[in-house]
Amino acid sequence: MQTVTLNNGVTMPILGFGVYQIPAERTEQAVSEALATGYRLLDTAAAYGNEKAVGHAIKNSGIPREELFVTTKLWVQDAPAQDNTRRALEASLAKLGLDHVDLYLMHQPYGDVYGQWRAMETANREGLARAIGVANFHPDRLLDLVLNNEIAPAVDQIETHPFFQRGPDHDLMREQGVQHQSWGGFAEGKNDLFTHPVLSGIGTAHGKSVAQVVLRWLIQRSIVTIPKSVDPGRMAQNFDVFDFALTDDQMTRIAALDTGKTLFFDHHDPEMVAWLSKRRLDG
Ligand code: NAP
Repeated sequence: MQTVTLNNGVTMPILGFGVYQIPAERTEQAVSEALATGYRLLDTAAAYGNEKAVGHAIKNSGIPREELFVTTKLWVQDAPAQDNTRRALEASLAKLGLDHVDLYLMHQPYGDVYGQWRAMETANREGLARAIGVANFHPDRLLDLVLNNEIAPAVDQIETHPFFQRGPDHDLMREQGVQHQSWGGFAEGKNDLFTHPVLSGIGTAHGKSVAQVVLRWLIQRSIVTIPKSVDPGRMAQNFDVFDFALTDDQMTRIAALDTGKTLFFDHHDPEMVAWLSKRRLDG
């Protein structure tokens, strides 16, 4: 598996498996199938409600812990943020049945971000999280965090797909040594992504599917990607993207599909900020 090296020397697979919107009762089977397919990077979150099931699949797989790269995420915490962040991480580890995660991400750029980040720094120093990072941080907030803390985020996981390519975010991350990770790489199929004529045409030229073209495009931009699927055939297809390469011309044709706009959440929209900031997880 191709890997990337994070700013603290930790290596991370460039392709993994995401479990957002997989119901808890379906997750153990899906993760077991993904591990059997060969995926070693798993991406979950406290907010997905399926950490326990991910943990069961890991345990039952028999795969040595050091061969896996497990990410989970911190939801927005009430004050005091440092204590509550520590408790949230311990709760996630207990659900996963692990003594550390490989990457712990702050899920949203809201609440007492600095208090949350300080607790994450402590967890990183103590080895509870081999790397720490953020999700959904736009360049202004990401740079602020990088410049004003001891430990810079290793990763920023942001919506990134052919219709929202995040060029300026990507450039800033590269400049600051932060690894760009895509969520929603297929835009969850929005905008008819899976039948898009440009992507389909490129796929036909390589004997590959649109999904494979999109993953290849992300990987060739050095972006870590975590496609979600509950279907073993599609899991295998999404894993089979290392035996072909897009040409410069094909990369340019995909670059032309960028609209520069989110298809999901606008993290600058006050209504969205209020909704995400106020949300609390049960238990
Ligand atoms: P996604 O990966 O863009 O799309 C998933 C959808 O594509 C599912 O409907 C899946 O259906 C379908 N699909 C998968 N492979 C396919 C293929 N080869 N051909 C046709 N359809 C295919 O969506 P996502 O789950 O939102 O994003 C991926 C991961 O990113 C998540 O699971 C999560 O780990 C992470 N994420 C993070 C955030 C954040 O705020 N940090 C937000 C969203 C997501 P089937 O399952 O039926 O195959």
